[in-house]
Amino acid sequence: MAICRIALGLLAFATSGIFGLTDALAQASDRSNPAIAAVLQDIADGNRILYQKKILDGLGHVSGRNPANPNTFFMSRSLAPGLVTTADLIEYDLDAKPVADDRRGYIERYIHAEIYRARPEVKGVVHSHSPAILPFGVSETKLRALTQSGWFLGDGAPVFDATEHGAKLGFLINTPELGKALARTMGDGWVVLMRAHGDSTAGLSVREAVAIAINTELSATTQMQAVALGGKVKYMTAEEAKSQAQMSRGGSTDGADRTWQLWKSEVGQKLP
Ligand SMILES: [Zn+2]
Repeated sequence: MAICRIALGLLAFATSGIFGLTDALAQASDRSNPAIAAVLQDIADGNRILYQKKILDGLGHVSGRNPANPNTFFMSRSLAPGLVTTADLIEYDLDAKPVADDRRGYIERYIHAEIYRARPEVKGVVHSHSPAILPFGVSETKLRALTQSGWFLGDGAPVFDATEHGAKLGFLINTPELGKALARTMGDGWVVLMRAHGDSTAGLSVREAVAIAINTELSATTQMQAVALGGKVKYMTAEEAKSQAQMSRGGSTDGADRTWQLWKSEVGQKLP
């Protein structure tokens, strides 16, 4: 009798496993969908572009929200950004759980999941250890908007300190709670600096999140140079930043697309 119960239990376990797998497979998105394929390509290109520009090294990551299902996003398996192709991208839900994929992912995937959960308008996220921004994550000096390409910094990018939110493994964002706290610190902005770690950027598209990551790095360098010159630095006013945001996002220029095509061509020849 006992053997019979064990056999029935094993059968139930095996069946639930099969159905569980079937459910998971059913949820996976169709990657031949042109809108999804375009996002996957932008994520792969964004990884290589950021590596080529030295914003990412062996670490860091780029993700994009699924255009066919806002409750999932795509990001590479655990791999150096300069090597990422579309075949390496895993689909995740907003709990940072893979959808029908058992490949190993990045430990800090909660950064992405929680920003997507908190900000429905965000379609792309980048996390990097961008070198020029690091001083601003440990200094009282705020990283502020002072050129047109850095309009999104406003009157100062917020700084997140993981040790103030229960981090137990250095400064890693390796739990949903830390991801949520980071997204709260980012608020409705487009960049959050991370003390002793790096930064995370968001955008209305993958391309914009990548461009903001690059322009945050450039802005940090410009600010340090301007301060080093001595004298008063003329930062962008709130009105000027608002006006610049309208110009950058309003479709009055094709500069963003032109720039993306250039960046893409730069990495296309050099990396697999
Ligand atoms: Zn990191």
